[in-house]
Amino acid sequence: MVLIYSDEKNLSLEMLSKGRELADELGKELTVAIIDGGDSDIEEYIRRGADKVFAVDVDLDNFKVEEYAQILSKIVEKTGAETVLIGSNKDGKELAPRLASILDADCVTDCTGLYMEGDSLVTERIIYSGNAISVSAFTGSPRVVTIPSKLFDPLLEDDSRSGEVIREEVEFDPFPSQITNVQQMECEGVNVEDAASIVSCGRGFKNKEDIKLAEELAELLPGEAIGCSRPVSADLKWLSEDHWVGLSGHKVKPKLYVAIGISGQIQHIAGMRDSDIVVAINKDPDALIFKAADYGIVGDLYQVLPKLADAIKEKKG
Ligand SMILES: Cc1cc2nc3c(=O)[nH]c(=O)nc-3n(C[C@H](O)[C@H](O)[C@H](O)COP(=O)(O)OP(=O)(O)OC[C@H]3O[C@@H](n4cnc5c(N)ncnc54)[C@H](O)[C@@H]3O)c2cc1C
Repeated sequence: MVLIYSDEKNLSLEMLSKGRELADELGKELTVAIIDGGDSDIEEYIRRGADKVFAVDVDLDNFKVEEYAQILSKIVEKTGAETVLIGSNKDGKELAPRLASILDADCVTDCTGLYMEGDSLVTERIIYSGNAISVSAFTGSPRVVTIPSKLFDPLLEDDSRSGEVIREEVEFDPFPSQITNVQQMECEGVNVEDAASIVSCGRGFKNKEDIKLAEELAELLPGEAIGCSRPVSADLKWLSEDHWVGLSGHKVKPKLYVAIGISGQIQHIAGMRDSDIVVAINKDPDALIFKAADYGIVGDLYQVLPKLADAIKEKKG
C-alpha cells in the first residue's frame, strides 16, 4: 500500500498523482492520511486519485513532530503501508526521518524522481546544489520518501471515482514540550509559489526604487508576482523573503519566469528550473542564466525593460 501525508492539502494532491502511478504499478491501494484535519472536502482526495482516506481526529494545538511521528507510525501499522510519501515542507522534513526511525525504515528526502525498477523503488535527488543527481534504490520496506512541492501536477478531478473514508482514533503519548510563542515571518503576503508569471530581480538593479521597472512589466502579465535572487532579499533587503527564489528560497513553477539582472548561479536555478518558459535579460552575453533560458535578451535592463513593457502594451492594444 502507498500512503501519502502532508499537512498542506495542495502537496498531498500533488503527491497523489505520483502515488497513483506507483500504486498502479505495484498493484496496491493508495491511501491519504489526514491528521487533525478539519478538511471540509475530504472526498476531493478520492476524486483526485486516492482509494482511501484515513482521517485521524485529534485535538492538537500545535505541530509537535514527536506526536505527529507517533500518530503517523500508527497509521502505517494499521494500514500496512509499505511506501510512505511525505510532503517535503518544513514540518514534513522533520517528520519523515523520525517516522522512519520509529518504523526502522529507510528514508530518502527531497526526491525529484521516483520510479519502480523491477521490484525496487528508485529515488533521484539533486545534490551539490544541482551539479549532480544521486540515485538510490530501496531494498526493503517500509520505506519513507519526502517529495518537494510543485514536482507533480495534481490529477484532474474525476467524479466517477469512488473510495472509502476511514475515521479512527489513534492513541499517542503527548510530548511534554510547550510552544510558548509562534512568531510570523515578516512578509508582504506574496505567493511566488503559486504565481502564473514571475518577474524576478537580481543584483543587476542598481537601486531599490528601480524595481518599479520590473513591477511595471509584471502588471502587464497574467497572475503576476515579483521574485528575486538571494542578494536582493537577504543582503540588500530590497524585497522581503517571500520574494526570494532558489535553493534556500522558494521553489517556483510558473508558466513564465523573467529573470532580470540575475547571473544564473546554480543556487538560483535550483528554485526556478521547473518554470515552463524562462526569459533572461542580462547585459553579459556569457551569463549562466542564458543556459537555463528559452529566450534571452542581451542588454541593459534599464533600456530593455521600458521597451519590453511598451511592446506588450502595444500588442495588448
Ligand atoms: C548555500 C547557498 C544558498 C544559496 N541560495 C540562493 C537562493 O536560494 N537564491 C539565490 O538567488 N541565490 C542563492 N545563493 C547565492 C547565489 O550563489 C548567487 O550569489 C546569487 O544567486 C547571485 O544573485 P544575482 O544573480 O542577483 O547577482 P550577481 O551574481 O551579482 O549577478 C548580477 C547579474 O546582473 C547582470 N547585470 C548587471 N547590471 C545589469 C544591467 N544594467 N542590465 C542587465 N544585467 C545586468 C550582471 O551581468 C550579472 O549577471 C546561495 C548561495 C549559497 C552559497
